[in-house]
Amino acid sequence: MNLHEYQGKEILSSFGVNVQRGIVATTPEEAVEAAKKLTEETGTGWHVIKAQVHAGGRGKGGGVKLAKNLKEVEEIAKEIIGMDLVTPQTSKEGKRVHQVLICEDVYYPGDNEPEEYYMSVLLNRSTSRNMLMYSPEGGMDIETVAEETPDLIFTEEIDPATGILPFQARRVAFNLGLSGKAFKEMVKFVMSLYKAYEKSDSSLFEINPVLKTSDDNILAVDSKVTIDDSALFRHKDYQDMRDIREEDPTEVEAKEAGLSYVNLDGNVGCMVNGAGLAMATMDLIKFAGGEPANFLDVGGTADAKRVEEAFRLILKDEKVEAILINIFGGIVRCDRVAQGVVEAYKNMGDQIKVPIIVRLQGTNAEEAKELIDNSGLAVESAVLFKEAADKVQAVLK
Ligand code: GDP
Ligand code: MN
Repeated sequence: MNLHEYQGKEILSSFGVNVQRGIVATTPEEAVEAAKKLTEETGTGWHVIKAQVHAGGRGKGGGVKLAKNLKEVEEIAKEIIGMDLVTPQTSKEGKRVHQVLICEDVYYPGDNEPEEYYMSVLLNRSTSRNMLMYSPEGGMDIETVAEETPDLIFTEEIDPATGILPFQARRVAFNLGLSGKAFKEMVKFVMSLYKAYEKSDSSLFEINPVLKTSDDNILAVDSKVTIDDSALFRHKDYQDMRDIREEDPTEVEAKEAGLSYVNLDGNVGCMVNGAGLAMATMDLIKFAGGEPANFLDVGGTADAKRVEEAFRLILKDEKVEAILINIFGGIVRCDRVAQGVVEAYKNMGDQIKVPIIVRLQGTNAEEAKELIDNSGLAVESAVLFKEAADKVQAVLK
């Protein structure tokens, strides 16, 4: 589950990580109230107005702006709320902005220039360990840094038995070129950031930039937080942070029906039981000259109701030119699945306008094939993988 910047900062802050303070607003009036409140708390009259959408690069798209007085806060909030923000990470249509975060300005002048760093915590799948990744080149996107100056990206692997150790946090501060107060503040920042990552069951933290203020404080100016969905049951308070306006509507519907569904760009819809078979089926579709329109795992109980729900989801996608159903009858019996397909088809026949190929293999596969072949419906059956691929190829022609 991805979070908005302001939600990520709330979580960071709850674990003692220093963040740029802010208040979320949904109208220009609320934005002005928020700015007034921040001025009372922090003394600053300058604020940044930040669009809250699930996409980075907002600064580049005009979604992050500095306001030097309350009139500007109101004007900028009016401009950003309701806009379709286009950034390098959104589609051409952009993302509708429903709320803004009003933040204290933390780039104030002082003894030193403010400095921006990059920092993330994530799972390194090749070592099965959490990893801290950081760079003195903050503010810009890390892919560019990786391409142009890869030697300016540092990593710190964390041993799961000990968690992050203080010497590692000191190494981070050292590699970022810090000394004195800023060094100590960075050590604290890194230790609490890692603790927050672990305790919140996140799978990604990306803080870009981490800021060293002109008076040598260290704080998170931005936050990109992804919570591991499988751990959400342990965090009742995070569950409400889900903003379904930011998610693909079909994927939301699928989740509610208990199906795992990921929308893709291709032309062949697929319905499969088991994630491994789903991956293999997507390969099969490519082999047949098509492109998968989705990943859909109907799970272990492919009964009529689930099959119908799955049909409904796939048919919402107008790019779909054919549907391939590929089910292995291990726990579930193939004839029951076939019955499910036939029933679902009968219920929604008028909505189904694309050819359907069904491959059922495993327990009672023969009976299943007979059921499909004798149903009189425009459903083709296949037994072998190759046969299914050939049939997909034929209908795409
Ligand atoms: P992103 O563009 O979506 O990554 O949004 P960020 O939260 O990273 O903000 C983009 C940029 O806005 C930062 O890199 C800063 O340069 C700038 N910015 C953020 N907060 C402040 C602030 O308090 N004062 C000023 N002057 N600039 C800020
Ligand atoms: Mn950023």
